[in-house]
Amino acid sequence: MPEQSPLDLAEDDPFGLHNLPYGVFSTADEPDRRRIGVRYGDHVLDVHTAASALGSPHSDVLARPTLNALMAMGRPVWQAVRADIRTWLGYPAIEPFLHPLTDVTLRLPFEVADYVDFYASEHHATNVGRIFRPDGEPLTPNWKHLPIGYHGRSGTVVVSGTPVRRPSGQRKAPADPAPGFGPTQRLDIEAEVGFVVGSPSALGEQVPQSAFRDHVFGVCLLNDWSARDIQAWEYVPLGPFLGKSFATSVSAWITPLEALDEARTAPPARDHELLPYLDDSGLEPGGLDIRITVAINGHTVSEPPFSTMYWTAAQQLAHMTVNGASLRTGDLFASGTVSGPRPEERGCLLELTWAGRDALELPGGNRTFLEDDDEVTLTAWAPGPGGVRIGLGEVTGRIVPNGR
Ligand code: CA
Repeated sequence: MPEQSPLDLAEDDPFGLHNLPYGVFSTADEPDRRRIGVRYGDHVLDVHTAASALGSPHSDVLARPTLNALMAMGRPVWQAVRADIRTWLGYPAIEPFLHPLTDVTLRLPFEVADYVDFYASEHHATNVGRIFRPDGEPLTPNWKHLPIGYHGRSGTVVVSGTPVRRPSGQRKAPADPAPGFGPTQRLDIEAEVGFVVGSPSALGEQVPQSAFRDHVFGVCLLNDWSARDIQAWEYVPLGPFLGKSFATSVSAWITPLEALDEARTAPPARDHELLPYLDDSGLEPGGLDIRITVAINGHTVSEPPFSTMYWTAAQQLAHMTVNGASLRTGDLFASGTVSGPRPEERGCLLELTWAGRDALELPGGNRTFLEDDDEVTLTAWAPGPGGVRIGLGEVTGRIVPNGR
């Protein structure tokens, strides 16, 4: 029986022609050489080598060790390269440029410029408000008027598969007389979707929601690891700091925005009038129907629906630049924890266990927060054309003990 070609992909493969996410990989022969690739089924197409062999006008930006140069070219080039890759995957001669995923090492696909994390799920923000401020209103007075966010640490954004060392820090429970220091005892995850900026903007320029597609190159899955005990003691009055900055994991694959056209959906109805720069009535639907699964050591613990997010990525982009702050190629902004209305749709252990009150029953032992050697994996898919699923690249990470 002839061996099946990697080009013969099932019509309904979640990493088929409708998807084509970008990544950066190395092979065992040349472990230090980083090459741009596109995932096709369980293979990666060496896009640079293919572009050189086929005489692509964009082979220069495709020869770089990260996606940044390609992302900086802007939407017309993104569309042209994507169309070319689709064409190339129809040529039998392209087969030698496809490597099995099992033979390559996936790298951080882009150099992260600035990193911003939002707080856009009403269900998440309400639950966290109830947990942290049980005597107050769960949502702060500003929550429905602007997308709340903070600047994170771009230098500690790591690619899926990178081990995450349990951080140490100051902790002080309300009843403790003084803070202590040590490894976090409340290590958590936050299931999020990240948006990667391609085209920059000038200092002083506001980027309207209508320009979202011109600036945003693609989408990744993101895990905002969080040390809840460190966070609870440090976060008033300036927000998250060391409880978050030790690591943020992103998927190795960046799904082009165009691949998610069929997944566009209207966000939940707003019950507050928005200022004009945030008003999205009359614009194309800004929500995305992305179905996320959170697994701990292979066991599903939650299925957060991204379609329930109150603020859209286009609103976040408009808000992030409304003061004239400029965008840089490689900027990453994350949605905030994705939590749906139902208990089994909550995107972090803080909510799933109600701050440790209700342990999750898992086959390997109950969990309130993460233990050493636990592995957390986020996967997701979105509806594509003709009922095909568009797979997002997984983001996974294993907790390494503090002393190791
Ligand atoms: Ca977060």
